[in-house]
Amino acid sequence: MERKIIEKIEEIISKDRIFTDTADLYAYGFDASIHHATPDIVIRPKDAEEVEKVVKIANEYRIPIIARGSGTALCGQAVPIYGGIILDMTGMNKIKEIRVEDLYCVVEPGVVYAKLNEALAKYGFFFPPTPGSGDVCTIGGMLAVNASGMRAIKYGATRDYVLGMEIVFPYGRVRFGGKTLKNSSGYQIERLIVGSEGTLGIITEATLRIAPLPQKRAVALASFDDVIDAGKGVAEIIGKGVLPSALEIMDRVCIQAVNRAMGIGLPDAEAILLIEVDGNEKEVKENIEKIAKILKEKASKIEFTDDEQEMLKLWKGRKGVLPSLSRYGENMVSVSLADDMCLPISKIPYAIKEFQKIAKKYGIIIGTYGHAGDGNLHTKVLIDPTKEENWRNAEKAVDEIYKVVYQLNGIASGEHGIGITKAPWMNGDLSTMEKIKKAIDPNNIMNPGKMMQWKKGIIAYLRYPVKNEEKRFRTVT
Ligand SMILES: Cc1cc2nc3c(=O)[nH]c(=O)nc-3n(C[C@H](O)[C@H](O)[C@H](O)COP(=O)(O)OP(=O)(O)OC[C@H]3O[C@@H](n4cnc5c(N)ncnc54)[C@H](O)[C@@H]3O)c2cc1C
Repeated sequence: MERKIIEKIEEIISKDRIFTDTADLYAYGFDASIHHATPDIVIRPKDAEEVEKVVKIANEYRIPIIARGSGTALCGQAVPIYGGIILDMTGMNKIKEIRVEDLYCVVEPGVVYAKLNEALAKYGFFFPPTPGSGDVCTIGGMLAVNASGMRAIKYGATRDYVLGMEIVFPYGRVRFGGKTLKNSSGYQIERLIVGSEGTLGIITEATLRIAPLPQKRAVALASFDDVIDAGKGVAEIIGKGVLPSALEIMDRVCIQAVNRAMGIGLPDAEAILLIEVDGNEKEVKENIEKIAKILKEKASKIEFTDDEQEMLKLWKGRKGVLPSLSRYGENMVSVSLADDMCLPISKIPYAIKEFQKIAKKYGIIIGTYGHAGDGNLHTKVLIDPTKEENWRNAEKAVDEIYKVVYQLNGIASGEHGIGITKAPWMNGDLSTMEKIKKAIDPNNIMNPGKMMQWKKGIIAYLRYPVKNEEKRFRTVT
């Protein structure tokens, strides 16, 4: 980056919040995906005025600008593939307002999800989307990707909670929505921004709906000898009108990975379901009884608990699937490829069976788990990432996986987003999306090259040193 541009930035941002050392730039080139690329400069703004001024410079000099929360995105969304400016939003981390009587809070984008819920819990409220990365990920990252998690089946995803937003577009700072629970006042641009992955503008503030914490929760742990039985159990629970607050599935690979890495002692089974119900005492009791009745014939074993510590342990095991898979075998890493498809709920067991066949065909291991209750599955491919052949096989397997997903009326992503790694399978009319981007960001400075703009294969900008194929894998012309 030219010296004169850095000098302009230094007029706005104090030097202790500008990073250009090689080590810093290298570290900011990662998110939690398979990709890596180095930015030219990292800036940590302290308020919306600073963001606005930096975006103005980026637009004037046509420099890519990529907002970054905690860097936990799984598809390369926060990776600066064309270099440019990383805006580290974690310095903007104030909770500005909590108004439980009006059911909203106002936050800066760098607030960490768990910190917001800590603050809301003091009032008996919470912000429900519950991503597995909630202890570290930011509200800005959640908004930009429309994150959600195990409670989406009952409480919905991040987009469902957005009431208002302040955004810095290339042409300036604007506000949409407000502090009301309903809004029929024209285009809801604040909701369009959700899921835009930083490709339209930088979120500098959000007004979010909040919900009262339930009185009570209880969890059922059901084991199955066949994943099809587990899937049928899920469909029947939903079909009989029971609405759990979480309904999670884990296959054998995931169960073994968690037991090996965390020693949680999950049952030895082909599949397990973790089913949480919440509400008042009576509702919880009734729903647990209904679930027990539905699963009686299908499950090999069902246990129930409402003990806080026991429930915490089970959810710790569930949240630990992703990191545990990387310790499944010698030299094996769990890579995020085809990791977040969403299907009609009843199709889940058939999809898992097909994924297992595909894994066998290509000699790779695929662990499948996820939010069975809302049709959102996570498949993790386990490979030695230093061998080119493994990537080629994984790429072919991923393509077949998506063919199955589309045959079963599914879509590419239910919560982790598109970035690079899922771009070839993104659904919807991409030309309309490109027109919207052009109208707001004509110079294409906002996180360029992602989603509908990514036209190449997914095995690119790899973070891993692949033997013999260094150049081909790490650069894209
Ligand atoms: C172990 C693990 C578990 C996970 N579990 C889940 C899960 O259960 N559910 C789920 O949905 N996701 C999950 N994820 C993915 C990820 O955590 C979420 O997408 C999360 O919302 C990203 O937040 P972040 O702060 O890390 O954002 P980053 O990774 O820093 O950025 C993500 C995207 O948001 C954009 N962005 C960030 N801040 C802003 C802003 N202020 N304005 C505009 N754009 C912005 C970035 O440019 C980028 O495109 C998981 C990831 C890991 C590593």
